[in-house]
Amino acid sequence: MAIAGGNQEEEKASLGVPAMEMRWTLNDFDIGKPLGRGKFGHVYLAREKKSNQIVALKVLFKSQLKQSQVEHQLRREVEIQCHLRHPNILRLYGYFYDQSRVYLILEYAAKGELYKELQKCKYFSERRAATYIASLARALIYCHGKHVIHRDIKPENLLISMQGEVKIADFGWSVHTFSRRKTMCGTLDYLPPEMVESIEHDAGVDIWSLGVLCYEFLYGLPPFEAKQHSDTYRRIVKVDLKFPPIPIVSSAAKDLISQMLVKDSSKRLALHKVLEHPWIVQNADPSGIYRAG
Ligand code: ATP
Ligand code: MG
Repeated sequence: MAIAGGNQEEEKASLGVPAMEMRWTLNDFDIGKPLGRGKFGHVYLAREKKSNQIVALKVLFKSQLKQSQVEHQLRREVEIQCHLRHPNILRLYGYFYDQSRVYLILEYAAKGELYKELQKCKYFSERRAATYIASLARALIYCHGKHVIHRDIKPENLLISMQGEVKIADFGWSVHTFSRRKTMCGTLDYLPPEMVESIEHDAGVDIWSLGVLCYEFLYGLPPFEAKQHSDTYRRIVKVDLKFPPIPIVSSAAKDLISQMLVKDSSKRLALHKVLEHPWIVQNADPSGIYRAG
């Protein structure tokens, strides 16, 4: 399987490897301990031999990708993630493949899955939640500026670095919109209203998800949870948002969540306004690093 996109030369150079060598191979890496297992393969700690840089090597089996018909999704994920450079977005340095496998060279997030941290603590402090939400808002502003909409922001897709920064991983459901590219080419004049609207609607998806995430960070459960799927749907459609009395959460936090979880996507609080919201300003660590204690 050939995956298009990603400038191998540039990516190799970014790991401190001379740009002359175009393609990565397994021989470029020392493989270490397994870090985890996903649907389509395994992730290993690895060291790039020339630069000594530690990375996470994600190994996917082509047969499984084909069987599940997700080759397209993977290709899109690679193309998008390869081009994103932000402290709160997991870097994808490059990829290579052999007969049976595809390998993704990823930034190593030493503290692992945010999901597990949340399970361990049950819910986060306001300081911790606000620090993560501010970092994610900045990462999403960056993505939207590059016309990329993530569409799948949730605790399972977030990793934590050695320093404690949150990193968005998993761009499998993301899309690259073309509205602004058209603007730059000067052809926006011809864009019909339903397309302009659908693009704005799409970016609003990430604001909604950030609101859900903020709620889950503070309460330990997503806001519209129900026993039956059909009830969850109903609660989402109605925006049946309730704040339980325990744990105690500040009214400023509840105000921010209420402004993100708005049914009409054009009325959701814009991401730059999220960063200016008093709860974020008062609680988020400006470094984006959460330190316990
Ligand atoms: P899928 O993405 O196929 O739905 P998944 O998210 O569970 O599945 P992967 O993304 O393949 O699986 O990752 C498997 C596990 O490996 C993760 O749950 C995480 O614990 C670990 N892992 C993945 N990438 C990294 C990384 N860059 N740094 C540290 N650990 C990682
Ligand atoms: Mg994943």
